[in-house]
Amino acid sequence: MAESATDRLTVENQPTSEGAYRLKGELHHSKDQACGFELTENFERFNQANDIYTRGQWDARIRSDKVINWFKGMFRPGLGARKAEGYSVRDFALRNAGWMGANLTIQRSLKQGRVDAFLDYILPYSDPNPEKIEIESPEVMSEEMKSVSRLFGADAVGITHTDMRWHYTKSFSTKTLAEKPYGIPDGLSNVIVIVTAMNYEAVKTYPSATAGIAVGHGYSKDCELAQNIATYILNLVYRAVACVNDTSLAIPYAIAAGLGEYGRNGLLITKDFGPRVRIGRIHTDLPLVHDQPISFGVREFCDSTCQRCAAACPPKAISFGAPEARIPNQSSIIGIRKWQVDAERCFKFWVNQATECGVCMRVCPYNKDISRWWSRAYYRTWTRLAASPFKRLALKLDVALGFGQRIKPGEFWRRFRSR
Ligand code: SF4
Ligand code: SF4
Repeated sequence: MAESATDRLTVENQPTSEGAYRLKGELHHSKDQACGFELTENFERFNQANDIYTRGQWDARIRSDKVINWFKGMFRPGLGARKAEGYSVRDFALRNAGWMGANLTIQRSLKQGRVDAFLDYILPYSDPNPEKIEIESPEVMSEEMKSVSRLFGADAVGITHTDMRWHYTKSFSTKTLAEKPYGIPDGLSNVIVIVTAMNYEAVKTYPSATAGIAVGHGYSKDCELAQNIATYILNLVYRAVACVNDTSLAIPYAIAAGLGEYGRNGLLITKDFGPRVRIGRIHTDLPLVHDQPISFGVREFCDSTCQRCAAACPPKAISFGAPEARIPNQSSIIGIRKWQVDAERCFKFWVNQATECGVCMRVCPYNKDISRWWSRAYYRTWTRLAASPFKRLALKLDVALGFGQRIKPGEFWRRFRSR
């Protein structure tokens, strides 16, 4: 396998993307400025074989027995457990139980040589209903799809157009450990983007295996939810393909669908849950209207005031500097000026922990619990302060009030057992 296989994007070979154009030689898109996307002349679509998790399987510089055990630990009881608070058999058990829904989606597809939801889009269970139903208007249908998504458990929903710039050039086969051709069906021009919030209390325990329930259960919910929505659409007569961690880069889609901004920690920062979310997508030919990108001050706050995630990151994988186009290694997309996160450093830390990390998610001031009225009121006031000229005060206040501090996994267990 080539060490870095990427396809150069030209305006000519992205037929389903709307409004792309070149200005002074650089690739632009009508929504890019509002989204905060800064593409440079050398932009290249990303090859999934360069993703750090797939490199963990084929790239001798990343792959090791420890890495293989890291993957196996999701399915094998007790693997990775040790005598340390937050890493006991019980902590790993909670994490692995959280992954069950995602694992069922994967298991169904393995027989067909696929890894649905993580390397391949989720194969639909049926063809579209042959009976046509009447669509009143794209506006009404969009509202309906948002209501249906919330009914099944989405915490936020946005709609945008399919943009091939964010789609992988090639997928990856776990059978051959090499790249494989990839594609989604043609003509699915709209994308419903869903976000689901992860458990706030569990995220507070990062780094730990205990916190893994937040990610595992987040993925499980996402797998089910994306399939719920796709199945609803298929039953209406339209086509739909459900995606989770496969097929395309989720964050640019979520930004274009108006669900948040890009943060220094390399994550989507949503308005209500900050970076504590998982993202799913449903590509469809259902007629829908598109949402507009939003801005609530994250970019400016990360740029001028906050470096909390960079300071807290154990392996120092997050940049303290300004957004840049120079990439740390081949696991980053080429040709976008943004805050870079060194995926090799990050993943090495994960593997040494025998579980994933989310310290940059825990410490982010936009990560708040808004389930109670007073916490929601505080957060709304805080985000306004963070978007005002009093950004430093907002950061100081957040630190002084103890937000972002780790709670011990033992405390997490004590709190939820006593409920
Ligand atoms: S997940 Fe952990 S290691 Fe990776 S960038 Fe965030 S803080 Fe750093
Ligand atoms: S911790 Fe601070 S710098 Fe990092 S993403 Fe959150 S707001 Fe931005």
